[in-house]
Amino acid sequence: MSHDPNCLFCKIASGQIPCQKVYEDEELLAFKDIRPAAPVHLLIIPKTHIVNLTEVDAAHEALLGRMLALAPQLARENGADNGFRVVINTGPDGGQEVYHLHLHVMGGPRPWKHG
Ligand code: 5GP
Ligand code: ZN
Repeated sequence: MSHDPNCLFCKIASGQIPCQKVYEDEELLAFKDIRPAAPVHLLIIPKTHIVNLTEVDAAHEALLGRMLALAPQLARENGADNGFRVVINTGPDGGQEVYHLHLHVMGGPRPWKHG
């Protein structure tokens, strides 16, 4: 398990910085985004420090699969049971702000799309 002492999400994963946790197991942590861009906005992170998708190799394939497979369960449990989107921002031109791999799960009612 790799840990970067200067990394915000490593600090969240180790409990140094609090979060609104919605899921945790040995490898993964999921919590609410502090500035939600949708009614339901969760972040799923590996506990081990991986910068982003450009650093992913074959050894991470199962971990990435688990992150993706967790999304529908957490969406359902947190009120996004009518659909959601997943996003992984990667690098400066990908809009990545926190350099610890994370999967955004965004969903919930979209009132502006109705009526
Ligand atoms: P990125 O642009 O790197 O894909 O997204 C980083 C996300 O992390 C943003 O949506 C931002 O709101 C969220 N974020 C940044 N700092 C914190 C924090 O301290 N706690 C939580 N829960 N979310 C954070
Ligand atoms: Zn980290």
